[in-house]
Amino acid sequence: MIAILSDIHANFPALRKVSEELEKEKVSSLVVLGDIVGYGAKPEDCVQWVVEHNGEAVMGNHEAACVGRLPLDWFNPLAKEAISWTKRHLSTFSLGFLSVLPDKIDKHGFLWLHGSPSNPIEEYIDNREVAQEIFYRFQFWVCFFGHTHVAEAYLLREGKVERVPLLAGGEFEFNPHTRYLVNCGSVGQPRDGNPRASFGLLDPGQRKLIVNRISYPVEEAADEIITAGLPETLAYRLFAAW
Ligand code: ZN
Repeated sequence: MIAILSDIHANFPALRKVSEELEKEKVSSLVVLGDIVGYGAKPEDCVQWVVEHNGEAVMGNHEAACVGRLPLDWFNPLAKEAISWTKRHLSTFSLGFLSVLPDKIDKHGFLWLHGSPSNPIEEYIDNREVAQEIFYRFQFWVCFFGHTHVAEAYLLREGKVERVPLLAGGEFEFNPHTRYLVNCGSVGQPRDGNPRASFGLLDPGQRKLIVNRISYPVEEAADEIITAGLPETLAYRLFAAW
């Protein structure tokens, strides 16, 4: 079983709960689709967790900003403030780990990245038109992505792109004649109206994917953000998941 985590965003209470769930499963590999840090108050703990669990991670836009690959001007004021704070709260080891993350991974028969195949760090796949263009321009069967914090999938079936919402979780079997762009949602800052932590479990042999939503102590993560002196909006948005 491959565990798929994305957009943890320094939310350790959410990551801890997901980690407990993963311990119940036969997880052989862990893939982390970027934005381990940013917004939340525990970036160092989250990076250490990924390292300790041998996570194969790709670079997200928040990592890119922390290591100087993406200018701060790319971000909105809230994110900018969080990135500056995060840089000051990461160890030299963790910054070094983040600085060498690849833009994408082609492994286990799937493509893994944060944004999109055309721009793995920056582009958002958030509608059918973008998904369609990517299906036509790039060769892949199943591509897992993150970045939007919305659990959903785009399927290219018989020339038509359809969107499958996964905000309540979901399960499907990959069909060899259909192509897929799949976002298993965000662990630490969902933006699809469901505040529960989201992650994926993939059985590559059976070609089966489960997207899980689990509750975690949102209050604890919010309190950490406020105590850390990060913008309070970053705490409140965790409850409403916008
Ligand atoms: Zn993100």
